[in-house]
Amino acid sequence: MHKVTLIPGDGTGPEIADATRRCIDATGVEIEWDIQSAGIDVMEEEGTPLPARVIDSVRKNSVAIKGPITTPVGSGFRSVNVYLRKVLDLYACLRPCKSYAGVRSRFEDIDLVVVRENTEDLYAGVEFESGDESTDELIRFVAMHDKGNIRKHSAISIKPISTVASERIVRFAFEYALANGRRKVTAVHKANIMKMTDGLFLESARRVAEDYPDVEFEDRIVDNMCMQLVQKPELYDVLVMPNLYGDILSDLCAGLAGGLGVAPGANIGDHAALFEATHGSAPKYKGLNKVNPCALILSGVMMLKHIGEEEAALKLENGVAAVIREGKDVTYDLKAYRDDPSAVGTSEMADAIITAMG
Ligand code: NAD
Repeated sequence: MHKVTLIPGDGTGPEIADATRRCIDATGVEIEWDIQSAGIDVMEEEGTPLPARVIDSVRKNSVAIKGPITTPVGSGFRSVNVYLRKVLDLYACLRPCKSYAGVRSRFEDIDLVVVRENTEDLYAGVEFESGDESTDELIRFVAMHDKGNIRKHSAISIKPISTVASERIVRFAFEYALANGRRKVTAVHKANIMKMTDGLFLESARRVAEDYPDVEFEDRIVDNMCMQLVQKPELYDVLVMPNLYGDILSDLCAGLAGGLGVAPGANIGDHAALFEATHGSAPKYKGLNKVNPCALILSGVMMLKHIGEEEAALKLENGVAAVIREGKDVTYDLKAYRDDPSAVGTSEMADAIITAMG
């Protein structure tokens, strides 16, 4: 019996989380779900969108699957999603982007995996506001050290890149490649311009690559990488990169494979793993039983693999693939026309996947 924390999330989260739990249970794997509510719905009662009990549960069980959680604009509370990754040190963001027959896309046979560093880079949130005393001080400090003249009243973000974080994310990418029979790892960077930060990332990647002689290694400059991905995606396999490039390229790759409805993801650390869809809480569809549950169900496939339930993972993935391929019992976004009246709801699509698994 596996123990897994289930965080339904808010917005459309609880609907897709329920669909996902039913599909995972239908594989026959025995899971004791520890259901932990979080997000805007618990704010009022518990005074925080992320009560300590949620983090305690993930720490205890080491594995969690989570529906999306809304980050209200300008409300003052920071992103629960980003905070969870930080507090649990989930340093690797894993986003497989794979074509499923029946998903409309300009591209076919996409099979890419984006491995994004999750803890540093411009995303670390070290920011200085325009006009602040500390910002002026920083501008003077930069000039004093002959590092250039930053315009007065600029805002500044700091980009920290460390050897420790770079090496561990690249090692994660190689270990993933080995464990999943992938042939190549490509490190993505802009080391020609950002010689210190991206230079250090690239150096770290080259060093780690030496420990994995059986997996091909190469590097690409990020702008070239974007062009290559839309021109010849078949040349690439596992892509590893710092946080910001990972944020952008994982959406690019999700787009190649057909969009957010089928884009799963995981945030993994040494002590815990949190599986979640790439998309957000789509609040305008809350309670309508309308959105596509597949991204979270496919995140469930990743979770099953992670806990060693390979056979169940394959069964569930095949069930999802069969329903999408048939194109009948699918949600509105997978139909040729978004107002197609034959589209089914979130829970009916889950029912179809359960039936397809036999
Ligand atoms: P979103 O992904 O929630 O929605 C954008 C649009 O994509 C939706 O309007 C909908 O048309 C479509 N869409 C998304 N998921 C879908 C699905 N499963 N099936 C069919 N269509 C789908 O992005 P957003 O509107 O920018 O964000 C809404 C909220 O979610 C924000 O508060 C944001 O911060 C949060 N968010 C959370 C996570 C997370 O929990 N990890 C990730 C991204 C965004």
